[in-house]
Order: sequence, then C-alpha cells, then structure tokens
Amino acid sequence: MSDTIEVSALHKRYGRNVALHELDLRVRRGTVFGLIGPNGAGKTTTLRTLLDVIRPSSGTVRVLGEDPRSGGARLRRRIGYVPGELHLEGRASGHRLLAFYAEVSGSSGDSASVLATARDLADRLGVDLNRPVRTLSKGNKQKVGLIQAFMHRPELLILDEPTSGLDPLVQREFLTMVREARDAGQTVLLSSHVLSEIQQTADEVAVLANGRIVADGDVASLRLGSMRRVRARIGGADAAAARAAFETVPGVEGVDAGPSTGAGTGAGADGVQLSATVEGAIDPFVKALAQYDVHELTVEEPDLEESVLRLYGDAASSAPPAPTRRQRRLGGKEGDRG
Ligand code: ATP
Repeated sequence: MSDTIEVSALHKRYGRNVALHELDLRVRRGTVFGLIGPNGAGKTTTLRTLLDVIRPSSGTVRVLGEDPRSGGARLRRRIGYVPGELHLEGRASGHRLLAFYAEVSGSSGDSASVLATARDLADRLGVDLNRPVRTLSKGNKQKVGLIQAFMHRPELLILDEPTSGLDPLVQREFLTMVREARDAGQTVLLSSHVLSEIQQTADEVAVLANGRIVADGDVASLRLGSMRRVRARIGGADAAAARAAFETVPGVEGVDAGPSTGAGTGAGADGVQLSATVEGAIDPFVKALAQYDVHELTVEEPDLEESVLRLYGDAASSAPPAPTRRQRRLGGKEGDRG
C-alpha cells in the first residue's frame, strides 16, 4: 500500500527566493509525523503544497494516493487542516460555523454525529461555541480551528503550528487528541517549532532548515532532543575560573560566565552567573556544578534555531544540495523507491 504522503523532489521558488530545495518526504499511514524547524524553514510552504493552496515549481506530491492538483474537493474532504494563520471574523457562533463546515464538506458520516463530536471536543478544549467567533480570543479561535479539523475524523490531519496561542493545559489535551487520532488509524502531519510537543507525539520526525531536510528519523535518534540550555548562579568561584572549569566538562559548550547581577536579592545573591549548552548526558555537568555553592539552577529546552544550527549547521547552510538525493522513507530502507 502506498504511503499517505509521498513527496518527491519538491522544489518551490518565490521569485529568486528558493523556499524548498528538492524535498523528499514520506509519511506512513497511521503514524504521527512531526515537521520541525526554525522560522522560515519551509514548513508552511510544504504543508500548503499538500493541500494545493500553493503549487510546486517542480517535483511531485501525492496525498492519500492522489495528486492534490486534481483531487479537488473530494480529496480535501478526506483531510482535516489547521492553517498556520487562522482568520475567524464572522458574526456566526462557533456552532453555526462548524455546522456550515460540516455541511459544505459533506462530511462522511452523518452531520449529527460530526456535530456531536464537535461539542465533545469543545468541552475538552474549553471553548464556548455559542459565542460569535469574532468575539473569541486568539487561543479560543484556534480551538475552533482544531475542532473543524478533527470533528469529521478525517483520514489525514495536516496541522500547521496548531498549538500557537493555546495555554499549557489545552496543549496537553490537544496532544491527547493527536494520539487518539493515531490510535484510530488516522495519519497526522504536525508542524511546529516547539521540539517538546513533537517529542511527545511524533513517531517520526524531519528537521527542516532553509528549505532542506537536515535530519530525520525516529524521535529518539534525533540529537536535538539531547540538547539543553543550563543557567546557574554559583558561589565559591570567580567568573574566569568557573568558565575555564566548565569549558573542559564533556558535552558542555558555549560557556558564558560573569558576575551575578542578582546582588541585593538576599543571601547568596552575589557570585557567578553561568550559562552553557549541554549536549548528551547531563551527569558530567551536574558533577562539575556540585563543586560550587549552587544558589539557582534552571535547565531548559534550547531555542530550536540555536539547536538546529549548532547540530546541523553545515547541512542547514545555504550551500547547494548534494547531487544525489537519498530517499527519505523514514523507518524504511534507503533505495526502495526508484
Ligand atoms: P514559520 O515557522 O515562521 O511559519 P515556515 O517554516 O513555515 O516558517 P515558510 O512560511 O514556509 O516557513 O517560508 C519559507 C520561506 O519562503 C521563507 O524564506 C519565506 O520568507 C518564504 N516565503 C513564504 N511565503 C512566501 C511568499 N508568498 N512570497 C515570497 N516568499 C515567501
């Protein structure tokens, strides 16, 4: 059986600007696929091409076995889509709007059950469908956008930055919805520039930078997940000595150390403010830190752009693509497509 999404040598140019360079991508049926990358990487361009919102300069695209350019409304009914920029300005209530979408899309299954699902999703996400959509906050509009994509249980969900504007509890509920969709046999293509939400849901991932896939595979194999940004305020050392000490710790890079600016905030406010990136095991860093008085410590996911550039900087550069294209059938063997 063919894959749900098959993209081959997809090239997109906007005037002189090349947004996608010969992109190859395959998404297997019944999986969650995460497309991740910094701003401007080409995520939205890729997703819009799958929906025939924009047309490729060259290359081939097949979605659910069809060419999006000829699939028309029949193909789009099988897809749920959340666009990156959602505009809901009408006077209609959420209910009316969703009923309208259910009707025009001629949802498979009867529209009463589609709307019952919509109400259930509205309860889970916490949005009032009785209010005119134009009066909803950005996050609540986004929830209506999610409901219209999920309510008819489409074979394929294409979600462009779907959690933007959602608070953390709602984001968690959304991730549960994605996992439920996968368990029901639906396929999900999810774009994001937030690594953690991809880590929590995706079976397979591609990292896009400057219009090229610079890494792909299962989530665990991506080195991005092993990067952390650490910040600490320590006592018992001067900045130069601390910098020199941490620079020799395995996996620790980009060490910055200077006098703490926290003076006057209570006991231990002076000392050294230290920041660094840790790749791989955090244990050597923690052991090195334990040599000092530790007043504060934060460990966080680094900025995605920083991680991609640090780990895949060469591949993400604007150098021309390699002459041979390798197939990106994720989880499969190389070379099983001609
Ligand atoms: P973001 O995370 O910021 O939404 P993205 O990964 O979705 O970014 P795209 O929106 O696909 O990236 O943009 C890819 C590149 O194509 C960028 O350099 C962008 O400036 C350019 N681009 C996108 N749409 C157009 C357009 N309509 N005209 C000209 N250039 C465009």
